[in-house]
Amino acid sequence: MADDLRDKELGMGRKITRRDFLDGVAVSVGGSLIGLNALSAGGQASDNSVQEKSPVYYPPSLLGMRGDHDGTFTFAHMLRDGEFWDGAGAHEKLAESYDLVIVGGGISGLAAAYFYRKQAGPDARILILENHDDFGGHAKRNEFTAGNRLLLANGGTQSIENPSAYSKVSKDLIRELGVDTAQFYKDYDQKLYSKLGTACFFDRETFGEDRLVAGMNTTPWPEFLAKAPLSETVRRDIARVYTEKTDYFPGLSLQQKRAKLAHMSYADFLTKVCNVTKDALPFFQKFPHDLYGAGIEAISALACYENEDDYESFTYPGFEGLNLGEPELDKEDPYIFHFPDGNASVARLLVRSLIPGSIPGHTMDDIVTARADYGRLDLDSSRVRIRLNSTAVQARHTGPIESAKEVEVAYMHGEKLQSVRAKNCILACFNMMIPYLCLDLPDKQKDALHYCVKVPLVYTRVAIRNWAPFQTLGIHQIVAPGSYHSHVALDFPVSIGEYKFPSHADEPMVLFMLRTPCAPGAPRQDQYRAGRVELLQTPFSTFERKIRDQLQRMLGSSGFVATRDIEGITVNRWAHGYSYEYDSYSDSALPAGERPCEIGRKQFGRISIANSDAGARAYTDCAIDQAYRAVQEVVKNT
Ligand SMILES: Cc1cc2nc3c(=O)[nH]c(=O)nc-3n(C[C@H](O)[C@H](O)[C@H](O)COP(=O)(O)OP(=O)(O)OC[C@H]3O[C@@H](n4cnc5c(N)ncnc54)[C@H](O)[C@@H]3O)c2cc1C
Repeated sequence: MADDLRDKELGMGRKITRRDFLDGVAVSVGGSLIGLNALSAGGQASDNSVQEKSPVYYPPSLLGMRGDHDGTFTFAHMLRDGEFWDGAGAHEKLAESYDLVIVGGGISGLAAAYFYRKQAGPDARILILENHDDFGGHAKRNEFTAGNRLLLANGGTQSIENPSAYSKVSKDLIRELGVDTAQFYKDYDQKLYSKLGTACFFDRETFGEDRLVAGMNTTPWPEFLAKAPLSETVRRDIARVYTEKTDYFPGLSLQQKRAKLAHMSYADFLTKVCNVTKDALPFFQKFPHDLYGAGIEAISALACYENEDDYESFTYPGFEGLNLGEPELDKEDPYIFHFPDGNASVARLLVRSLIPGSIPGHTMDDIVTARADYGRLDLDSSRVRIRLNSTAVQARHTGPIESAKEVEVAYMHGEKLQSVRAKNCILACFNMMIPYLCLDLPDKQKDALHYCVKVPLVYTRVAIRNWAPFQTLGIHQIVAPGSYHSHVALDFPVSIGEYKFPSHADEPMVLFMLRTPCAPGAPRQDQYRAGRVELLQTPFSTFERKIRDQLQRMLGSSGFVATRDIEGITVNRWAHGYSYEYDSYSDSALPAGERPCEIGRKQFGRISIANSDAGARAYTDCAIDQAYRAVQEVVKNT
């Protein structure tokens, strides 16, 4: 079918409510919400701070390309390419001085402000610089209006994962913010989807024909696979590896078995140890994408064994007969600690605590529907301020590092180069950004910081008119090993406070769709670099076409009509997503001793380093723990 005809059939021309629109006024999502200038008094303002104080400035409700939205990386990439300073323009040195300037308004930066204020006292003056148009970093909130109601979704950070294993510092912080994790046992409906299962979508480009097969993981494998468009050999091998309980390493001790699994990829384990035909690999290829952003050829078999899938959409076969005992990383808690906007609620609770009056309310219930007042984030009168749309470009001591009393932090706020001074600075941004901000860092530390290549991934959220097609098919999620988005799911069923989850199939719903672009076969870090380039070059229109096409092909048989049923699309593009985690297979060349994250996070005079990159773990508690560590360094300085 001709492309434009297919586009029409998919509804590409159809107006999506508020697509790239902010309360009905078109904005340029690029730069720094430049279109908002038109909204400020008389349409004259060119100052970003005026835009952010506009009553219609409300980033969570923006649709289209979000996450690392256009404009967030412009100056950072110019800095990387050595092109920034020549064209930077006039440098305005503001008369503002702080006890602490924090670069990065994610959970780590916000937590650092919280810990510092707690230790230094309520009069501490703190400025947080954040390059996005919203705070929270990966913990972002997406709002949709569908079927005349507000629907929430997490744009990034999804859940408080395994809180029992949190450190005391992280547990205490969550509790002090008012989060009672026990409440999720009541708020999260663990029964709603119990009769709905998982389907696998075999796409024609990868498997020869489009076919949706329900009953994955619940139907006996031979029966399930008999319905799949796979060859007899592939069906037989997949069924065998799922059902046989063979000890492929007879005679080896538990430790020896684990060591072997640690140093081979899961793809090699399947083909060379379990004797599965290579033709079966496309079925398994993307299993680790959700956690690692790369496929089975790049991740160790041991990591696959240890890290079960949070969505329970698939299991890694082949380990049952090996008698490996319980996975060492076994999680104690169910995957239910989910606010309707994910851990954006944690970020919002932090902001509520740091800046009185910024978000009304007092409890974990009322944070969910409370509307943030962005106009209050950066007021002269506040002790703690959050300056959005501000990319830090330099953090340097105002004299020799041994004796300097201050750090000067320069940043681009909109199009203006400004700087402020502070007694101390915490860089709670990305590890690989830090060498460009602090040119004087030792080379060894810079190299270690560059080892962190963040994982690119996309959390696409699609508001649909109702979720009857899923009900009809008897499923709540789809694994799509060959498709543009490899996992599609109904949202987590959680109702908190006044927010009620759409628990009836005739109600509108926000779908979750996962995409993790990478370059299979290349070294893992190169895979992420390639995926990031691809992401940054892909326009929203391509995403929209792919989303519509995929949903239509997967759900069309159950009455879904893309052109009618899609009410809103937000593509949360995390070009710089998960922190880089070390894997025994793909990072086997790392020397013993201090890991790159430990070398990279060393205090440098009055500059300390937080962020989850500093702990090489892509989790909220890591971001909090690293913030706490950085604050202890700062406090010792004062
Ligand atoms: C899609 C996704 C889903 C996730 N899901 C979960 C989950 O379910 N549970 C969990 O525990 N963890 C999850 N994580 C990991 C978790 O989100 C992170 O570990 C944690 O939020 C990181 O917080 P952070 O503050 O360290 O970094 P970030 O959230 O990345 O915040 C750093 C901020 O600094 C900004 N910044 C960078 N450079 C500059 C600069 N030069 N100037 C100004 N600002 C700058 C960045 O744009 C960013 O906003 C997820 C991550 C992603 C990407």
